Amino acid sequence: MSDSNSPKIAIIGSGPSGCYSAQALLKTVPNAEITVFDRLPVPFGLARFGVAADHQGTKGVTKQFARLFERQGVKFVGNLNVGEHVELDTIREHFDAVIVATGLHEDRQLDIPGSATPGVVGAGYITRALNSHPEAKLPLDYSLGEVCIVVGAGNVAIDCMRLLTKNGTEFTGSDVHDDNHQQLSGKLRELHLVSRSGVDQAKFDDSMLREMTHFEHVRHELHFGSGDLAAVTNENRRDILTILQDKCTDADPELRGVIHWWFGFAPHEVHGGNLVDTLEIVGEDGTHALIKTDSVITAIGFQGDPLVPVTEAGRETGKIEQGLYVGGWARRGPRGTIASQRIDALELAKIIGADLADLNSTKSGVAGLNLTPGSTIDYDGWKRIEQKEIEAARSGRARHKFDSIEEMLKEAGMQPTSQH
Ligand SMILES: Cc1cc2nc3c(=O)[nH]c(=O)nc-3n(C[C@H](O)[C@H](O)[C@H](O)COP(=O)(O)OP(=O)(O)OC[C@H]3O[C@@H](n4cnc5c(N)ncnc54)[C@H](O)[C@@H]3O)c2cc1C
Repeated sequence: MSDSNSPKIAIIGSGPSGCYSAQALLKTVPNAEITVFDRLPVPFGLARFGVAADHQGTKGVTKQFARLFERQGVKFVGNLNVGEHVELDTIREHFDAVIVATGLHEDRQLDIPGSATPGVVGAGYITRALNSHPEAKLPLDYSLGEVCIVVGAGNVAIDCMRLLTKNGTEFTGSDVHDDNHQQLSGKLRELHLVSRSGVDQAKFDDSMLREMTHFEHVRHELHFGSGDLAAVTNENRRDILTILQDKCTDADPELRGVIHWWFGFAPHEVHGGNLVDTLEIVGEDGTHALIKTDSVITAIGFQGDPLVPVTEAGRETGKIEQGLYVGGWARRGPRGTIASQRIDALELAKIIGADLADLNSTKSGVAGLNLTPGSTIDYDGWKRIEQKEIEAARSGRARHKFDSIEEMLKEAGMQPTSQH
């Protein structure tokens, strides 16, 4: 039970790192008053806006996080952008410990000539659009065209390949943004994945590649920057690629499209004037190839401003200095799965537990911030939004996510004009 002398802990960011940190702190600082802030009106970060809409099992982790707010006394304060609506230093004044778990939001840029050509777009933007992120509204005339190249070979690259290959009927049970999906994939006939790494070194999980074998009437072509399929040493991957290669031929009367897999090819230059026209790639053996395309999606990682400079010690342990901590992607960079955030959070909670041991807090916590009434969203407000999303689900969909802040605020019962 917390009382006025209980330690006050603020967690900035309600993604997996923030939520796992709250969960772990309930054990290491059992009497703490914990508040989780998020700049968006809705919680859970990339569990809601990154994890693919057709991977509802993975998104299910949010049910576990919900218990924090529904049963374990953790407070949610949404629609509060720290650094804009309230300064980090102000939060630090009112809390004994602050964890920065703000993630990394921006797509890392492809560092080759022509990478700023219109038609080159980051995977973060595409996956957010498919996940109804309010800041990824597609312009009305936006299109990936008939041919699209995905650069990268991590799980996010494979997510893009799978989501863009699927048609509307293959999203049963998901909460995909159907209109955005149709707009992005409706015209596509040819997809390419360009991986700098060879098959054996590529970062994706085998299970992700295997999912690509589920598509019928899709032809796959394999290209190797050096060697061939027989030279792949990872047997599992070799088997999956063999299945893909043998899946279907051009003679298939129901052929939906073609997927090209380029392993061991580095992107070299994007050609095009007002719009991307060709991607030039170079194989490990030095040969150049040109791929005609309408669009390029870069899936080569994320970057961003972590709200605080993360010191070497901060990166190492999560503790920047007494009272200030960092977690998740903000700490380690864009590496690590949801599960790995739990492990880091457990370690960090031990450190904070030791730092706050026997503390008789004089801090006022969230009450001391004097937030304008009605300017933020509490957990009940989020539950009202969620209820409406579930009620509004189209046939065959888990929910219909609101894709604008105004709608979210309205459904939460707030006036869209509420000011901080
Ligand atoms: C496209 C994509 C798909 C993925 N799919 C999977 C998957 O299937 N399985 C898996 O295990 N992992 C997946 N991951 C990785 C996983 O999402 C991350 O490991 C995890 O989300 C990192 O957690 P985090 O809390 O550090 O960051 P985030 O999840 O990004 O959470 C950060 C939170 O901080 C909030 N925030 C940011 N700035 C501020 C601010 N100034 N003030 C207040 N709040 C702020 C954000 O709104 C957000 O809610 C995926 C990642 C991406 C990008």
